[in-house]
Amino acid sequence: MTIFSKIIAGEIPCYKIAEDENYFAFLDINPVNWGHTLVVPKKETDYLFDLGDSELAGMVVFAKKVAKALKAAVPCRKVGVAVLGLEVPHAHIHLVPITNEGDMDFKNKISNPSPERMESIAESVRKALSEA
Ligand code: 5GP
Repeated sequence: MTIFSKIIAGEIPCYKIAEDENYFAFLDINPVNWGHTLVVPKKETDYLFDLGDSELAGMVVFAKKVAKALKAAVPCRKVGVAVLGLEVPHAHIHLVPITNEGDMDFKNKISNPSPERMESIAESVRKALSEA
């Protein structure tokens, strides 16, 4: 079971953003910028482009809804999208609110993000999703 499956199962806490039958979104615990969110399929597959076509398409549509809520809730110019997958072998899309290129530098993470700010951001994004 991957660490993301444990998060989805509620065995490990997270700042949850959204879920539906097949997908789950939560804040990255080591954000590169405020609002950095991970979108994952509930079914374990290591590599994003090994997902079936309809699974991948559904994930992108789910990520689109989350990205629009992020854009509404977190001050930014755009929501950047990245796929790395070097650390956790459970397919995921990174969504990062950005104002400039440097906001998406994965070598430059926010150090010790406060739990209060993380929860406050998650709450704002959930609210934006509920109003969409
Ligand atoms: P990647 O696999 O795309 O290279 O990186 C995995 C991402 O998952 C990293 O940005 C890392 O901070 C995040 N991550 C790893 N473990 C956890 C965790 O337990 N909780 C959360 N919320 N994020 C995690």
